[in-house]
Amino acid sequence: MGIPGSGLAKGLAVTLRTMTRKSHTAQYPDAQPELPPRTRGVIGLFEENCTVCMLCARECPDWCIYIDSHKETVPPAAPGGRERSRNVLDRFAIDFALCMYCGICIEVCPFDALFWSPEFEYAEEDIRDLTHERDKLREWMWTVPAPPALDPRAEEPKELAAARKAADKLAAAEAAQAAEAAQAQNGRGSEGDEDGNGNRTGNGAAS
Ligand code: SF4
Ligand code: SF4
Repeated sequence: MGIPGSGLAKGLAVTLRTMTRKSHTAQYPDAQPELPPRTRGVIGLFEENCTVCMLCARECPDWCIYIDSHKETVPPAAPGGRERSRNVLDRFAIDFALCMYCGICIEVCPFDALFWSPEFEYAEEDIRDLTHERDKLREWMWTVPAPPALDPRAEEPKELAAARKAADKLAAAEAAQAAEAAQAQNGRGSEGDEDGNGNRTGNGAAS
């Protein structure tokens, strides 16, 4: 049998011990929490990258991504070419009342159109307001942290190498075109210096 009052003494000892320790809780909202930059707060949509492939909506375990689109016919780029059809986004919304922040939609998006933002202060009084439509999802993009810098020792990504090769090719073609144009200009200039009989009439012309 324990000594009477020992439980109380033990409890007081625990209270005294914890009182002297640094607190791990923050008085939110007076004190803002220090969150890691990659915190899963809310999802931003970079609409220009979205091809309406529907992969995110299909893979979402909560079925809380709503996408509507229609097809549009694009005229051929050159005469005689074929018409093409493309998907045009009409609606893109995420219901954050259902979302479980698993990040699957962001992982599966093949076109880098979805990103995590650390913003978390979007509580609403009406649950329906937790469905964020495309405009709101686009606004979250401004709060997405910049990607970490590339490792300078890393191998160059093949996309970058291909883009550089294409840019070099284009620059070389433009330089060749400019040289050709300059040559043609020079040719015309020297032709203009000759009269109908082939005699030169400009400065230094044969008499
Ligand atoms: S984070 Fe997960 S639950 Fe939320 S929208 Fe994306 S896939 Fe769905
Ligand atoms: S997976 Fe990406 S590209 Fe496809 S519909 Fe979703 S956001 Fe758009």
